[in-house]
Amino acid sequence: MINISYRAKTALEILGDHGFEAFVVGGAVRDRLMGDIPGDYDITTNATPDKTVELFSRYKVIETGLRHGTVTVIIDGQPLEITTYRTESAYSDTRHPDSVQFTNSLQEDCARRDFTINAICYNPQLGIRDYYNGENDIKNKVIRCVGDPVQRFEEDALRILRAVRFASVLGFEIEDKTKEAVFSCAHLLKNISAERIYTELQKLLCGKNVKKVLLEYTQVLDVFMPQIMPAKGFDQKNYHHIYDVLEHTAVAVENIPPVPQLRMAALLHDFGKPATFTQDEKGVGHFYNHGEISWQMACDILKKLKVSAEDYQLITTLVRYHDYPVLPNEKSVRRALNKFGEETLRMLLLLKRADNRGQNIADFDRKEEYDALEKVIDDVIRQRQCFSLKHLAVNGTDLIDMGVPPSPQTGYILNALLEMVINDDIPNHKEILLEKAGEIIKNI
Ligand code: ATP
Ligand code: MG
Repeated sequence: MINISYRAKTALEILGDHGFEAFVVGGAVRDRLMGDIPGDYDITTNATPDKTVELFSRYKVIETGLRHGTVTVIIDGQPLEITTYRTESAYSDTRHPDSVQFTNSLQEDCARRDFTINAICYNPQLGIRDYYNGENDIKNKVIRCVGDPVQRFEEDALRILRAVRFASVLGFEIEDKTKEAVFSCAHLLKNISAERIYTELQKLLCGKNVKKVLLEYTQVLDVFMPQIMPAKGFDQKNYHHIYDVLEHTAVAVENIPPVPQLRMAALLHDFGKPATFTQDEKGVGHFYNHGEISWQMACDILKKLKVSAEDYQLITTLVRYHDYPVLPNEKSVRRALNKFGEETLRMLLLLKRADNRGQNIADFDRKEEYDALEKVIDDVIRQRQCFSLKHLAVNGTDLIDMGVPPSPQTGYILNALLEMVINDDIPNHKEILLEKAGEIIKNI
């Protein structure tokens, strides 16, 4: 007996009551068998899409996937995907199946699914249907293609990255023949759209086994992110570091919270190191300016992956400034808050912490320093200290009242005042600020 959501049960019942066969399939069954809570439920059924639309007419139905046999039904405000049993023909462009055919056979529907662990079906009345021994593979923690792996990857190369994603998220091993095909077919990922790749990459990075996977499957990421390869095995020749650049990167990734943007920033933060490497007369390695080079590389990578404008902005900022010095004192923190804003500064601190975990922490553990820094950030925020123009006790209107017409000068004066307040040269008091403004105006 597997627990399934009320919404999935409702859908299975409606289909069953009208004489159709329907099962929960894919991630939800897999997650339940592993004792995890499923994210979303997918239903597979022998009802045709038209029939499904008809049966769910009292619900809101979205028909966007109809051509591929998918009907999205909104039950209790949440979407549920119901897909008709289908087979797929050849993928001549390794992107889209040339056509899909509906079938009455559940086993045929399972045959087109990517991995055995994703091809287990469950219906409370009918029990489990597991044509490809997925349960056994779950027990043994193995990712194995349904059918011949090379053929399956040639049909849809995204499955290569999905295999690696599931290895990372579930902590499973990829079975030998499937693994061999992962490497021999990796180049086919070139044909896959950036959007599909980025979706899988984000999940891969948030997996619990991400470190191992990054080191073992670097060659797969190399296909769409060639900037990763020089990091592999790159000896840093520096006593701060006990790992090569890629291992250091992987440790940093696993030590930052599993939020896609943070993990992505950790992945990219040191890609510029190999290109900036120098050795001094003692043979010690240095990477001057590597933040800037990593930043440029991150910009290229993220553009190619077509990430959203917000993700691009955030991730590239984190990469660029990962070594930006912020000291555990109020002045330094106010400066940093002014430059980055609270949210980004806190993320930057998470990246700094993770970066340090990937260094020689026996000698250079900075945890206490970063704890102290975090405390100062908390204090400055809680005390509502002034670090941006919107906190300043004077504004443009006050300057107009003093006779300064709205002009670029207004901004110049306000920023000069803010700078003095941030530096603790003057308090954030209106009268004092206005007096200072008068002096500045005189000197312009
Ligand atoms: P998640 O927990 O991320 O939702 P999932 O296994 O449900 O994992 P989905 O991307 O939601 O993954 O896909 C649902 C199901 O559809 C999969 O379990 C699998 O059976 C099938 N599937 C998805 N993508 C592919 C693909 N590219 N090739 C073959 N089958 C696929
Ligand atoms: Mg799913």
